[in-house]
Amino acid sequence: MTAPLRAGEPVTVKVALGARAYDIVIGRGLLASLGARIKGLRPGAKAAIVTDENVAGLHLVAAENALSAAGVASTRIVVAPGEGSKSYATFETVCEALIVAKVERGDLVVALGGGVVGDLAGFAAAATRRGLDFVQVPTTLLAQVDSSVGGKTGINSAQGKNLIGAFHQPALVVADTALLDTLRKRDFAAGYAEVVKYGLLGDAGFFSWLEANWQDVFSGGQNFAREHAIAVCCRAKADIVARDERETGDRALLNLGHTFGHAFEAAAGFSDRLLHGEAVALGCVLAFEFSAKRGLIAADDARRVARHVAAAGLPTRIEDIAGAVPDADRLMALIAQDKKVKRGKLTFILVRGIGQAFVVNDVDAAEVRAFLAEKLA
Ligand code: NAD
Repeated sequence: MTAPLRAGEPVTVKVALGARAYDIVIGRGLLASLGARIKGLRPGAKAAIVTDENVAGLHLVAAENALSAAGVASTRIVVAPGEGSKSYATFETVCEALIVAKVERGDLVVALGGGVVGDLAGFAAAATRRGLDFVQVPTTLLAQVDSSVGGKTGINSAQGKNLIGAFHQPALVVADTALLDTLRKRDFAAGYAEVVKYGLLGDAGFFSWLEANWQDVFSGGQNFAREHAIAVCCRAKADIVARDERETGDRALLNLGHTFGHAFEAAAGFSDRLLHGEAVALGCVLAFEFSAKRGLIAADDARRVARHVAAAGLPTRIEDIAGAVPDADRLMALIAQDKKVKRGKLTFILVRGIGQAFVVNDVDAAEVRAFLAEKLA
């Protein structure tokens, strides 16, 4: 874990990817500097801002003003909020709108929104005119610590989440932490699950720090705990992505909690019943409990994780999911549909302790089914 930020100081995290390297800039009030940053990055470029209706109502005018103040011309493309926009139909709408707006190579697509907008706009940028550069301006905690960094873009298929997409790195990420003040508490908490995940997968000291400081991260106060937490997560993700951009090795560690999590998310119909981050929180708790059952960690470690996740208002038990949950066989079918399955064997991220995640490629499906059946009983 790194030392906390000095008050008010924006922090820059570099993603070291050679010719595709870029900066993540983190700080309170950074949206006002967006135009100047874009002008510095691509002098003379115009921008197409892709956002959703909720974010448009709150932050679009400020983003447009920041661009025009620096002399950057912009157009807006506004989509419906929610996971439903990661669809072929909305992808087509965005690509067509970019072409109609005459966004050329050398111009920039600006993704102003949460993970949905970032994934959708990033994929539209990757595909339109065989690749437009794009800037991520993440407006949810989940997007600031995870989805805006690393270049995974895409939409959902009827067969599952994120099955259509491309690796397309942004040219810049501007994370204005003040934008998170307008998030619903539930969305903030869902993003916090990904923050906790970084501690759990590789940084025990950060997890302990979160146990002591999580309320300050939520309140976004003047002690800059929020900015510190986001910077730690971005550094961790930047390191992993620089080592393994295309997820042939270490990057899979970022999927801690996601194998169980995606199955529950699918079971809840990718709806408000269970947000992505909430599914990740539950998935992380289950990954720790499964690791304890396999004798990899002490049961106390799993209980400690569940305690912290519950304190932050996130689900830790299957029965915390609103409505009916399918049986173990159906959950196994959903796990098998996920892309983390190779030649019939399940790939899981398990732990040898808090901060010590590792990839296992050959987990026996029967063992997972028995574990889920026990949890559902
Ligand atoms: P989201 O984009 O749907 O945003 C959540 C809600 O918050 C939406 O209703 C949105 O309109 C609203 N919102 C956004 N910013 C706001 C603000 N500042 N104030 C008020 N409301 C605001 O969801 P999310 O949790 O940000 O992202 C989830 C998506 O991210 C999923 O589709 C998931 O698959 C994807 N994801 C991608 C990666 C990746 O590496 N590409 C990683 C993790 C998750």
